[in-house]
Amino acid sequence: MAMNLIDGKEIARQKRSFIAEEVEKFKKEGIVPGLAVILVGNNPASKTYVTNKERTCRELGMHSVLIELEEDVSEQVLLEKVMELNADPDIHGILVQMPLPIHISEIKVIETISPDKDVDGFHPVNIGRMMTGQDAFLPCTPFGVIEMLDYINADISGKHVVVVGRSNIVGKPAGQLFLNKNATVTYCHSKSTDLMQYTRQADILVAAVGKVNLITKDHVKEGAIVIDVGMNRNNEGKLCGDVDFDNVKEVASYITPVPGGVGPMTITMLMFNTLKAAKSIRQKQNL
Ligand code: NAP
Repeated sequence: MAMNLIDGKEIARQKRSFIAEEVEKFKKEGIVPGLAVILVGNNPASKTYVTNKERTCRELGMHSVLIELEEDVSEQVLLEKVMELNADPDIHGILVQMPLPIHISEIKVIETISPDKDVDGFHPVNIGRMMTGQDAFLPCTPFGVIEMLDYINADISGKHVVVVGRSNIVGKPAGQLFLNKNATVTYCHSKSTDLMQYTRQADILVAAVGKVNLITKDHVKEGAIVIDVGMNRNNEGKLCGDVDFDNVKEVASYITPVPGGVGPMTITMLMFNTLKAAKSIRQKQNL
């Protein structure tokens, strides 16, 4: 089977240049799409994510605000900050970087973000809208996965999609987006018995677990499309996904690498959502 690489970097680059053009048009109307990111504490991984988001905002000509709060900030102070941003006309998207310290309820924070500014797509209103097939902010990583499949013109309707992982931010919404596109969807997770019996049936296999080499060549049907969402470090400290890339590429028709696959798409879709928020807030104001 001739393997084709799905180049997330290149797809993200094209998408970003489209977003930057749209931002430019917006600026002519005196509106600069703005994203506020709240970072609580000093988690180094969170800091890196937040820095990347800020940099990408600037690259695309968007307004970006970073609010850094101490690890011991009270839940009330954080919620008030979110409410302040909900009311700020210069801010169209709000993102609170997870995970939060244990004394703060993540769900309370998510539910306080205005659904109109919920560019992560984690608010129950947006999740419900996505499930019922209405216009919604889609969670950035699964949204990026769908965009990659659209880019290669993958046929999704009627296909069997197996999603390994059922987190609220990746696995569950990924399956839902495929269902919305008329796929037949199977979810696997840590309690699934004999993972391979399911993954081998997949026309499209999505791995979103966080375990190095969980998906081997034996898990994959000849000709399947394999999307690797995992972001792990192997024994040598190298960034890698959940899929045994070197062997799986022998059987897959398409495969995403790590790094350079789903990763670059995630921030790109966050930027897309921020632009979308700015557009829909403007539209509501003009009504
Ligand atoms: P998570 O919340 O830890 O969820 C992991 C899921 O994998 C859970 O549903 C778990 O099942 C399941 N699982 C664990 N062991 C399994 C096994 N042996 N067989 C089958 N399923 C198993 O992780 P997440 O936030 O969804 O992230 C998943 C991976 O994607 C991580 O590597 C993360 O770093 C990466 N990620 C990448 C991006 C990106 O932009 N590329 C974005 C987000 C996340 P249970 O539900 O039963 O516990």
